[in-house]
Amino acid sequence: MDHATGNLSGRVRVRFAPAPTGALHLGSVRTALYNWLFVRQKGGVFVLRIEDTDVARSDEATLEDILDGLEWLGLTWDEGPRVGGPYGPYRQSERTQIYQEWAKKLINTGQAYYCFCSPEELEERKKEALARGEAPRYDGRCVALTAAEQDELRAQGRRASVRFRIPDKNEVVVRDIIRGETAFDRKTLGDFVLLRSNGSPSYHLANVVDDILMEISHVIRGEDLYPSTPRHQLLYEAFGMRVPQFAHLPMILATDRTKLSKRHGAVALAAYREAGYVPEALVNYLALLGWSPPDENELMSIDTLIQTFSLERVGKSGAIFDIEKLDFLNGHKLRTLPLEQVTELAKPFFSPEALPQEFQFQKAIALTRDSVTTLAELPQACQTVLSRPTYSCEILAELAAEPQNAECLRVLKDGIAALESMEHDALVALFQRTGKALGVKGKPLYHPLRLALTGKNKGPELIGIINLLGKEECIARISTCLEHLMAVTKKDGEVE
Ligand code: GLU
Repeated sequence: MDHATGNLSGRVRVRFAPAPTGALHLGSVRTALYNWLFVRQKGGVFVLRIEDTDVARSDEATLEDILDGLEWLGLTWDEGPRVGGPYGPYRQSERTQIYQEWAKKLINTGQAYYCFCSPEELEERKKEALARGEAPRYDGRCVALTAAEQDELRAQGRRASVRFRIPDKNEVVVRDIIRGETAFDRKTLGDFVLLRSNGSPSYHLANVVDDILMEISHVIRGEDLYPSTPRHQLLYEAFGMRVPQFAHLPMILATDRTKLSKRHGAVALAAYREAGYVPEALVNYLALLGWSPPDENELMSIDTLIQTFSLERVGKSGAIFDIEKLDFLNGHKLRTLPLEQVTELAKPFFSPEALPQEFQFQKAIALTRDSVTTLAELPQACQTVLSRPTYSCEILAELAAEPQNAECLRVLKDGIAALESMEHDALVALFQRTGKALGVKGKPLYHPLRLALTGKNKGPELIGIINLLGKEECIARISTCLEHLMAVTKKDGEVE
């Protein structure tokens, strides 16, 4: 063989090879992630290759969305679109000539041949085979055409595709890191197309030629592509190349144990991003979808995932998608990631008018992030603290039920007005002083103030709310609340 490339360097090089024909599905994201975790652990190279040979279905905007989605998740690639690299071009639509040359090599060695059967003829024979209860497969009728016969067919205006000639051996044994060894009967494969009659490559040819030329050492991809693997293996052998290591990942299933699809709900990464899931949670969650960590702890940082991930611990059977677990992880990441990071991630969820000033914004996030599952819930949670409360009849009745409440609010209002600092310790001291002076402690001391400041019975911790609102806003809210309270008590008095 003249092109004895393939990966001989021993260097780990993996690739993620999406087709830009539809939104990035969670299953594809998981494939990208496993490639990425594997290669980052090994210090190898992550290649992003775009399999856009289906020109009619491929779309630029979809491609950009895929790249943006991967970047947003932090799954950076070392070679590919936007970054370039020494093995380019990384888009298959720009490599047609390469595939044609490689197909020609197989024609020259008799391992591939021209096929003049038209799509209509093939369709007709397929139907006949199905009617006979047989699996449709190319019957090999063009394999023995002589050069003269071929010329004649060309002269008739027929255009030839190129087919791979399945070698005459009984079985093809595929070795897979996850699935072990499988023997495929070559008779079931059928001579498959390498180049279509318009000169464009089939998935099998483009995929294998690129994996050879890009020196891919490990092919990590979804199990749906497992049936293609014996064909790929035969192609490597025909080219005289070493077969890369294969690892086919289990499918992602819905709770009804069928393949996760649109009918089960959102499957596109973008939908989860828009719903307010953070990259760290999705990465942690998807890492666990098919792989199990060596110890029980499933709350993992990206660094820990890189250190502990292994293909050997990826299961064979389908992994069930569980939104509750994703919610749990997302809530956990929102509470534990650095506040600055959560604040940045939260920004797109706030409309510009509703976005509090910078310093207030971070405080509002700090106060509310414990109470939400997704970023999308933060504007509402912040709003309940930041917007001026309206006092419902129930809240006013609750305050009016105990005369001491109004007194408590007045004293706290004066106390806040006299404060020099609104920081945590100063506020704690204020509550202590007020409690002592009025002879109250616990809920009777704090709760009236919570009702006055937020108009609600529940919410984030009170000291944080006071600090966030600042002195003037607190005083204004307490004053308004007291006015309402007085109006109610007066009215009640008149009725009596
Ligand atoms: N382009 C294929 C797909 O999107 C992936 C091919 C591969 O990983 O070998 O399904």
